[in-house]
Amino acid sequence: MEWMIWLDFSMFMVLLGLLLYVFTSSSVTVLHRIYIFLHVVFLLWPLFQFASQTTSQLSYRLFYLSGSYIGLSLLGIGWFAFILFLTGQYYVIRKSRLLLISIPALVSVIVVIWNPNQRFLSIEQGLDPYKQLHHGSLYWVMIAQLVMYLTVSLIILLYKLGRRDDSARQRKMVRTALNGVFVLSFFAIADFVVNVAYTDYFARYIPLISIGMTVTAIYIVHAISRNKVFDIIQIVQRDIMNTMSMGIVVMDENDMIIEINKMIKPFIRFRVGDIFNQEALLSQFKSETRRQLEAFFEAQRERPLERLEVELALDLNQYQYVIVQSAPIFNQRKRIVGRVLTIQDVTEMRMLVEETNTQNELLHERNRELLIMQDELFQANKKLEHMAITDGLTGCYNRRYLLQQLEGEVVNNIRYGIPFSIFLFDLDFFKTINDRYGHLIGDEVLCSTVEAVRSALRLTDVLARFGGEEFTVYLPHTNREQADMIAEQVKEAVEKNKVTTTVGGVPVTVTISMGVISIEQFDPADLDDPKAFLRELMAQADAALYEAKYSGRNRIVKRKLA
Ligand code: GH3
Ligand code: MG
Ligand code: MG
Repeated sequence: MEWMIWLDFSMFMVLLGLLLYVFTSSSVTVLHRIYIFLHVVFLLWPLFQFASQTTSQLSYRLFYLSGSYIGLSLLGIGWFAFILFLTGQYYVIRKSRLLLISIPALVSVIVVIWNPNQRFLSIEQGLDPYKQLHHGSLYWVMIAQLVMYLTVSLIILLYKLGRRDDSARQRKMVRTALNGVFVLSFFAIADFVVNVAYTDYFARYIPLISIGMTVTAIYIVHAISRNKVFDIIQIVQRDIMNTMSMGIVVMDENDMIIEINKMIKPFIRFRVGDIFNQEALLSQFKSETRRQLEAFFEAQRERPLERLEVELALDLNQYQYVIVQSAPIFNQRKRIVGRVLTIQDVTEMRMLVEETNTQNELLHERNRELLIMQDELFQANKKLEHMAITDGLTGCYNRRYLLQQLEGEVVNNIRYGIPFSIFLFDLDFFKTINDRYGHLIGDEVLCSTVEAVRSALRLTDVLARFGGEEFTVYLPHTNREQADMIAEQVKEAVEKNKVTTTVGGVPVTVTISMGVISIEQFDPADLDDPKAFLRELMAQADAALYEAKYSGRNRIVKRKLA
């Protein structure tokens, strides 16, 4: 049962492997992993050195010694990686580069295991135990790579120390590592002198490297714990959590609180280790908020995989608006391992939004006022326009408007041969009415007469006050026959119109004299000067009116344009 003795050893290696696995696979920092590697390397040497001295059987001794030399071979690269990390040169260590950097160490390991023709290490039987060991030429491969790693580490450290722009903490770490290099080198050289070069002189084995490694490890661990190197990330994470403006609660799958930050304290009076008690939280709030929050937790129970959000108006020591979010935490296998609840105070934002809304409303109001003003202005303009073209007393168009219209119409009518007519009429003996009843009654009579005239006209006929109690009517598309008929209707309407005045009770009646001209023949030459033509037309109409007056009044005189 020779192989059974290897069972213990195998189990030791399995346990060691498990230790390494646990620490390197869980979420510890890279620095943790590198330090653990270095530490295991440190462990190997003293363990195997001790083991090698517990047996006099040469094959075992050789095996154990090989184990210790494997450990020693890895010391350089372990140390080098540690230094790189400690001095913040993380970028050097990427997976691909790390392999490249490790080549000398791996070569050394292969040499140790292979030990071709015992050219790395041989044991001579019969000599004193401390003189039995004989280091061959390949031994220098290991020494060379160790010296190389240590030298490069030293160069990096000295270079870092010379730089002034690093933080005090980092320089302290560099100094610590530098001291570590010196301690380790000192003991390594001493060991070499005592146990390899001058074995005859010292005549005994002194485990100097083991002591050196232990001293270095103690020193580094002390420095690390004093400077909180390993905690730095956790400290930073905690600082970040606590400086965030958002309250955070992290719970595991059983609603036990694992982590909370400072900002959560005004909202939730829980501590790490408590079970997240929804009832206790709900009891802090009043009706509406409570109902909302209840619904939120209900939704969370129903849809645990979703990220949920609710905005609440809190009325704790002051009025606050908060956004509560709840999101599941998944592990790598996409299983829920907990929840994170965040509470964010959005009061300021809300205020800002409300302020903006108020401003907006104000602006809206201003705008409306402006629109009203614009409308008023438009109406006023319209009124002005109306006033500009109408007569204030009777509401008829004024002379200016009529002449302006006529200018355009006349040109059109001549060009297209459209017949049209013009009336010019004047109230008979109007002065007498003024004299008898006064001007105000005169005005009333004037207005009433205009109404009567209008009732006899068509919608398209344009009635205008030409001045005083003299009026003009432009009748478009109207030939002589039609014009005569309408003129007769107008005269009759005025004659029949009894104006009931506010004085007396006796109704006043007036008559009109009218000149009528109808244009049915067109001379294109008239288009040369339409204004002159129009003047001529009006003169003709005036002449006809004059004739009507002269021949007795209350009559119509028709004129054909000469
Ligand atoms: P006829 O035309 O028949 O020859 O006699 P008449 O008395 O009407 O004489 P005329 O046309 O010359 O006189 C017009 C008068 O009308 C003169 C003026 O006092 C009066 N008048 C003119 N405009 C107005 C007005 O807006 N209101 C009033 N009340 N009277 C006016
Ligand atoms: Mg008159
Ligand atoms: Mg007159």
